[in-house]
Amino acid sequence: VKVLLAYLCDYGDRDDYYLSLLPYGLTSMAAWLEKKGFDVTLANFSREGHRGALAYIEKEKPHVVGLSIFSFNRTESLKLIKKIKEKHRDVKIIAGGPHATFLSREITARYPQIDHLIQGEAEHAMAGLLDDLENDRSPEKIISGQRIGDLDSLPYPSAFAGKSMGINHNEQYKFIVTSRGCPSNCTFCSSPSFWSRRTAFRSHENIFNEIVHIHRKYGIIYFSIRDDNFTMKKDRVIKLARMIRENDLYIMWNCQARVDTIDEDMLREMKLAGLEHIQYGVESGSESVLEGYNKDISIDDIISAAGATRKAGIYLSIYLMTGMLGETGADVNKTIQLIKKILPGDGIVSPVAYYPGTAMYEEMKAKGLVSDDIWFRSHESGIFVRNDPAVHEWMNRLLNELGKIRRHSWYRENDFREHRRYMGEDCWVTDMLEGDFYLHDEKLSEAEQCYTRVTEKYPRNVWGHLRMGKVHFFKEEFTVSEKYFRTAAEIVPAYYGAWLKQAEALLALGKRGEARSAAEKAFSLNRYDARIRNVKNLLRH
Ligand code: SF4
Repeated sequence: VKVLLAYLCDYGDRDDYYLSLLPYGLTSMAAWLEKKGFDVTLANFSREGHRGALAYIEKEKPHVVGLSIFSFNRTESLKLIKKIKEKHRDVKIIAGGPHATFLSREITARYPQIDHLIQGEAEHAMAGLLDDLENDRSPEKIISGQRIGDLDSLPYPSAFAGKSMGINHNEQYKFIVTSRGCPSNCTFCSSPSFWSRRTAFRSHENIFNEIVHIHRKYGIIYFSIRDDNFTMKKDRVIKLARMIRENDLYIMWNCQARVDTIDEDMLREMKLAGLEHIQYGVESGSESVLEGYNKDISIDDIISAAGATRKAGIYLSIYLMTGMLGETGADVNKTIQLIKKILPGDGIVSPVAYYPGTAMYEEMKAKGLVSDDIWFRSHESGIFVRNDPAVHEWMNRLLNELGKIRRHSWYRENDFREHRRYMGEDCWVTDMLEGDFYLHDEKLSEAEQCYTRVTEKYPRNVWGHLRMGKVHFFKEEFTVSEKYFRTAAEIVPAYYGAWLKQAEALLALGKRGEARSAAEKAFSLNRYDARIRNVKNLLRH
């Protein structure tokens, strides 16, 4: 069978960096089905919308279309499903994803166009389903996916070699997932019911090999680890961090973590391996609100994690929520006090919302205060718990506070001195972050000193060369700048950015022919970056 695995976000979200990327599960599914011998196309129709998806189906005539449905893209995805079936009655439509998982009966009853729906972890279930379809067996309409114990048995999503559409690999494969599930039981989160509070982990060797694969194939030098809680298993994190260092892999990265699963050792090891930024689920500064979320962390846990993070010189970012039932202005004041104390460099504030599969939603449903019907009547991505004006005011206050605190919380000269003392002289990430701080303030010679430490000590560290190239470009020393960018491209030949920068330096030197070749090379590696198109246009005449 010919399979199309497709995703699209809502049209209004097409410029949202995160929502317009493919969900990780779908990329993993594509690689798995390909490994199982199916003819798979992976497509992101977020930009092209329904029209692009329907035109593709018209032309390529897949036998099966699989779609990932989340709460935020349900409206657009369900509309597309209807349209596909209207025009192509024989195409089998298979739905999956969290929203489809939790509302399987409602969705299949309202959308008879869906032939099958897979709940939960879908790789094995989908392969079995396709096999049934191929052999004219009649699979069930709603199929429960089985948990996969050995995640190392799955191929890397980035190993998918089939046809792909609308996918910017340079952005898509920055995001990796190294474990599935979370044992905690926060009331606002659907992870506990999606993964049944059981966590499966990939081994550190498997993660390392995937990172190397992506780094070589797509030239990606910055990664984002999107596990529910990457730091759950300390020994695995430390083994991975050491493997990265011992193999001289100079990548930078960020991850998400629970504040009660990190410690100073782990943070040090992670920073030495390139961690520059960590995001914690803090949610609130009020113990009683945290209790309502069943977050199972204390304010002391938050303060101590933030302190350890700042001590290591890793940028600290927090997720906050407001608008919980019973939350008051006094609780919000406590969150503001906490922000002032822990000094996050960055943060996201969300209004508390009900999502299918969360304990909070199930409780409201059991009380008869909400019904599944709402997901088909409303087009909102989530259903806010409270809509009163106070919540809007609290959101603004928290966002304001985060904005104000940035001036104090971003690291400065003194902080970097402390970080260097604590992390030792061998931590190139400290040099990079300090250099970036000076570069931002246009203190070019101070920045140069920091980056020189990196290039001299770690000549194969692409980050040092890229920043040195930038410093010399600002100084209008284009010959030196070009040399650094050329070295960066030699170190990571698949990194489009190094070729783009080289093209810009060559253009500034008036070497248009060489600049054109470098720009062409950048374009061959990344067709989505507007800066590359601009340089190509400048070189056209
Ligand atoms: S919010 Fe985070 S810690 Fe809580 S259940 Fe969800 S993934 Fe786990």
